[in-house]
Amino acid sequence: MLDLIIRNATLPDGRTGQDIGIQNGRIAAIQPQLATEATREIDAAGYLATPPFVDSHLHMDSVLSLGMPRLNESGTLLEGIALWGELKPHLTVEAIYERARKFCLWSIARGVLAVRTHVDICDDRLLAVQALTKLRAELSPYLDIQLVAFPQDGYLRYARAAGNLTRALEMGVDVIGGIPHFERTMDDGAASVKTLLRLAAERGARVDMHCDETDDPLSRHIETLAAETINHGLQGRVAGSHLTSMHSMDNYYVSKLIPLIAEAQIGVIANPLINITLQGRHDTYPKRRGMTRVKELRAAGVTVAFGHDCVMDPWYPLGSHDLLQVAFMGLHVGQLTGLADMRACLDAVTAAPAQILGLDDYGLTPGCHADLVLLQAHDPIEAIRLSAERLYVIRRGNVIAQAAPRVSRVVLDGTSALIDFTRKNLEQA
Ligand SMILES: [Zn+2]
Repeated sequence: MLDLIIRNATLPDGRTGQDIGIQNGRIAAIQPQLATEATREIDAAGYLATPPFVDSHLHMDSVLSLGMPRLNESGTLLEGIALWGELKPHLTVEAIYERARKFCLWSIARGVLAVRTHVDICDDRLLAVQALTKLRAELSPYLDIQLVAFPQDGYLRYARAAGNLTRALEMGVDVIGGIPHFERTMDDGAASVKTLLRLAAERGARVDMHCDETDDPLSRHIETLAAETINHGLQGRVAGSHLTSMHSMDNYYVSKLIPLIAEAQIGVIANPLINITLQGRHDTYPKRRGMTRVKELRAAGVTVAFGHDCVMDPWYPLGSHDLLQVAFMGLHVGQLTGLADMRACLDAVTAAPAQILGLDDYGLTPGCHADLVLLQAHDPIEAIRLSAERLYVIRRGNVIAQAAPRVSRVVLDGTSALIDFTRKNLEQA
């Protein structure tokens, strides 16, 4: 007798008619026509079951702060930074906590069950660290939250950043962040990377840096990040977020850089929604897209994830933490329209970020945590095309979110048709 069986699901690898048996919070079996009974059964009706979405790059301390204290009139990165600076003195632990908690309910409804969020530590009161460590503990049965100590104003440039970063780690922040391209000089940027990686090696911490988030083809902190990762034996524990300068770099240089990134086993996190809107702003025409070289990095064996980065904050007024929208944008910006490339875009918001975060027992195989999402779609490409509804969100074998299928009734001349835009719908019509 199992706790739960999901009958007749399709899996991301294309297997259909699969029953997923769950017991004690773990996947007990996946096979066709599981001949066991369960306390509860869910009919998947051929829909796609995926492991939960994982957002590898978010700023949870600023989500849902749109309009506080005013809207970003120009829509630029610089006005966004100025706005965040205006808001910072008025923040309280309670306000950050409340906004982030509301947001996490959105995440769960969207089937996002793990989030790596950067936390601004260039606030000497460390309010966001207090708020988000509290929230991480409270929500841990439902949502994995990983916190990155992020020196928004520069690790060397902001006088008290080093002390604040150490305090944040002592308060329970998991990962060491950085922002080398925002230091005063290229040399300072490289020095910040070296110092922060030494600290990570001493503490056994993972690293995730905002790295080269610029259109400058000569911003090459990713090279230092990769080389220092190898020097400190941190392979597989370091992520480079954004890497947008790679979009603009010389091709010959990149042919040397990508093998170095692969050797260092750097996890690469692109943020398609934000890269396409914030990069290329100094260009007239043609305008650069700004997203890093996803196809080429993947071809070299590098793990590439897509993050959401911002949701309704000073930098980005849109979003609802739907990682299928992120995959959709990444697919377009990267021209990832080949069959395998499109499927990899689902991977970029599920398995790839799970690997970068180092999540244990993640995936749809027996023995893994019984965490999964049932989507109103029949395959990964359809899921991305439709930003498919999350019919069931399951955590440790319990249904924690549910939604009705999206369907429209079209009535012409007294004859009605139900439209849900899926492939099955075409076959029926
Ligand atoms: Zn960011």
